[in-house]
Amino acid sequence: MTQPDQQVVVPVLDGEDPWTDEELAEVREDLVFDIKRMQRAIATAERDLAKLFDEGTEGAGRDPADVGSTNFERDQEMSLVQNARDLLDQAQTALRLFDTGHYGTCEACGEPIGKDRLMVFPRATMCVSCKQREERR
Ligand SMILES: [Zn+2]
Repeated sequence: MTQPDQQVVVPVLDGEDPWTDEELAEVREDLVFDIKRMQRAIATAERDLAKLFDEGTEGAGRDPADVGSTNFERDQEMSLVQNARDLLDQAQTALRLFDTGHYGTCEACGEPIGKDRLMVFPRATMCVSCKQREERR
């Protein structure tokens, strides 16, 4: 008995062309690239954050305006890190789905996410309507 090639089949929506190997390779590359970029961004932001915390603690008796701006920078830096972590998490989840052959299926409703959407947002793990419903919550 001959087995068909063990190939990742990523579903598409009605009317979309099936994925080509090149397109799939591109999407995977995007995910890997995103993960690396996010890890770098987080490392940089955490270094900056550590510096800001240092400045914040040694600054007893400093001008309150300075303390205020350090706090502001710190908050900004922290939301940046949080944001990057979320994106990293999404990209890692998508890559894991890709490598286990579950990529491209909406995690909420089980329908195909759609090729057009994944080409633009390789990190997407939900179809457009589920995503919109989630965001409205
Ligand atoms: Zn869905």
